[in-house]
Amino acid sequence: MDISVVIPLYNEAESLPELTSWIERVMKDNSFSYEIIFVNDGSTDESWEVINNLATQNPNIHGVSFSRNYGKSPALNTGFARAQGDVVITMDADLQDSPDEIPELYRMITRESYDLVSGWKKKRYDPLSKTIPTKLFNATARKVSGIKNLHDFNCGLKAYRKAVVKHIEVYGDMHRYIPYLAKNAGYTKIGEKVVQHQARKYGTTKFGLDRFVNGYLDLATLWFQTKFGIKPMHIFGLLGSLMFLLGFIAVMIVLTLKCVSIFSDDYNFYVTNSVYFYLALAAIVVGTQFFLTGFVGELITRNSAERNNYKIGDEF
Ligand code: UDP
Ligand code: MG
Repeated sequence: MDISVVIPLYNEAESLPELTSWIERVMKDNSFSYEIIFVNDGSTDESWEVINNLATQNPNIHGVSFSRNYGKSPALNTGFARAQGDVVITMDADLQDSPDEIPELYRMITRESYDLVSGWKKKRYDPLSKTIPTKLFNATARKVSGIKNLHDFNCGLKAYRKAVVKHIEVYGDMHRYIPYLAKNAGYTKIGEKVVQHQARKYGTTKFGLDRFVNGYLDLATLWFQTKFGIKPMHIFGLLGSLMFLLGFIAVMIVLTLKCVSIFSDDYNFYVTNSVYFYLALAAIVVGTQFFLTGFVGELITRNSAERNNYKIGDEF
């Protein structure tokens, strides 16, 4: 099978028939063998009935339905697990992404040997309140992930070599950082294609402005996991040691001040008069906490089911 199209959706009943016939047309024109996997993320409208109907007319259409709304990332992860095509293409269900991009995306993966090609909505049809924070968000994501050539991390339209989607785990709200997840899994040939973007035709957006706050927090989490996920002591131990060093220096200063005062017969000097006393106190308490956090972190990774879960790229 050439292509699996994975479509996560939440209350998109109106768009589905139009989207499906458009994809079918593109597949037929290019004579691709394909499947469409609709992942119904607990829609409360008629989306699931519509999908069932569409599937009776085309055996290439498959559907999975969650019992409740879990989010776009769980929906993608479920679709990825079922995908069988050599190239996996993800697409939003709201007709903002154009299926006409599929042949070129397919070609970039198969001919130019990209692992992942992300769409870039260079000209967006979204309100300014969304496009400006998005620019900032992408700049930060580029910096943190080290994937310098991507302009649009969160574009719903992406193409993957099959191995990539089988080796990454998209959870929580991490769909915003799939290129980063792919890079961490060793798939570093990541490209970009400018894609057509359209205003939402039916329904409303499913993400509010909290996407930006959560997006930044997720990026921080991912950065931390990537760098110290399996060796937490390397960061907490370093911070703890720095704190102890600071505390030690402060203690030495306090002691020196005390000695000087004793030798100069100044009995009005108490160590609690010195700012270094408090600095030493705080630094040693904080340093101890860093070390304890590091030890607890190590115990957790030691017991994690993931600790020896290496993704094998190839073997014979
Ligand atoms: N979506 C989903 N589960 C959710 C929220 C969204 O499957 O909890 C789907 C949604 O139906 C659409 C895609 O994710 O197919 C992108 O959502 P949306 O168009 O609302 O995002 P935006 O384009 O505003 O970034
Ligand atoms: Mg959309």
